[in-house]
Amino acid sequence: MSTSLMYHTQQIRGFQHISLKFEDNKVIQCIKRKNFTCNFCRSSKVKLKPLRIRQIQALPYGLKKTYFEFTIHRIYCLKCKRRQIEDIPFLSHPKSRITQALERTIVELRSEMSISAIAKYFDLDWRTVKNVEKRYLKKKFRRIKLKNVRIIGIDEIFVSRKKENEKYKTVVRDLESGAVLHVGNGKGAEALEQFENTIRCVKRNFEAVAMDMSRAFIKWVSENLPNAEIVFDHFHIIKMMNEKLDNVRRRITSNLDDNYKKLLKNQRFLFLRSVEKLEPDAKLLLDNLRKTFKELGDASMMKEALRSIYRKAEDDTQAEAAFINWCFIARQTEVPELAKMADTIEKHMKGITAYWRTGKLSNASMEGFNNKIRWLMRQAYGYRDEEYFKWKIFDLPNLKIKKQL
Ligand SMILES: [Zn+2]
Repeated sequence: MSTSLMYHTQQIRGFQHISLKFEDNKVIQCIKRKNFTCNFCRSSKVKLKPLRIRQIQALPYGLKKTYFEFTIHRIYCLKCKRRQIEDIPFLSHPKSRITQALERTIVELRSEMSISAIAKYFDLDWRTVKNVEKRYLKKKFRRIKLKNVRIIGIDEIFVSRKKENEKYKTVVRDLESGAVLHVGNGKGAEALEQFENTIRCVKRNFEAVAMDMSRAFIKWVSENLPNAEIVFDHFHIIKMMNEKLDNVRRRITSNLDDNYKKLLKNQRFLFLRSVEKLEPDAKLLLDNLRKTFKELGDASMMKEALRSIYRKAEDDTQAEAAFINWCFIARQTEVPELAKMADTIEKHMKGITAYWRTGKLSNASMEGFNNKIRWLMRQAYGYRDEEYFKWKIFDLPNLKIKKQL
């Protein structure tokens, strides 16, 4: 192989091709460095001592696994008198066992192929593939642009049932661009500590923060973002209402005898789904169940009533009147969960109606984003590597296709 071909196909420069060996299914190219210089002062007045022979996996030629073999040297610089190990320019870090060109190809293929498929194709350990991608993502998201961020969303997401892992991640996003700004461990103020440092110079730019009613986040925002209005957005209110509805269903089911229990079994999603998305027969079933189980029927109707406020209210004044009315009816149903929801709405009315004052934040994308994270968690490698998982969350907005990744 010519030295020029080695450069153009494998991006190896400054080395000379010496010989070629074939072993099993491997092609091994022995190469030699042309010139040696000091890593520090770049002087070429150096003394060399061969240390050991290394083999580095490169891009394959056809079906043959390809390696470059060379001697690594200890260098003594006669000019600056420093001792050092020769620096290999086609490796991303000194201990890497694959070339940078192969690493780049792995990263490019990751948008189309799973970790295991890439590992199998290049005959690499899957951890090698994962670590290559991890390093790439870490570099890509090292600096987050915060200059033009005005509206953010803070959300905690349940990610693990395992004891040794953090159960929750807190994700901060720019709700206008969709970019992930921060991923923290846990779900309290401690999850935002690092973010606090990052935003020190730009925190006055933040105009609105969408979030749920977590006390820790409310406190954090009022202490750290002096100009931001707190918004309890559509997505979080409906999520909370769905939780209440689910509590009613569970309470009722536990008090029923077995025949009635059967009627409600596996109907959780029938109640949680938006009515207009139901097929006609599902809609009929829902109507019947609403009549049979009055409290559940009331809760289900009140959820729809709440959703319709978001569809119909044109400004915060209209919304507030509708919410007051909703709370009044909710209490009349005498369903305890609905009364609780009414209390919560009244207590947080300012933040709830802020949704209209801040031009109805793009919370739909928030729900979609949480679904993407859940999808990421279901992927093969379980993301036991917490750091890798974190960088994958940063990369989620760039993910276009739902494939096995
Ligand atoms: Zn030197």
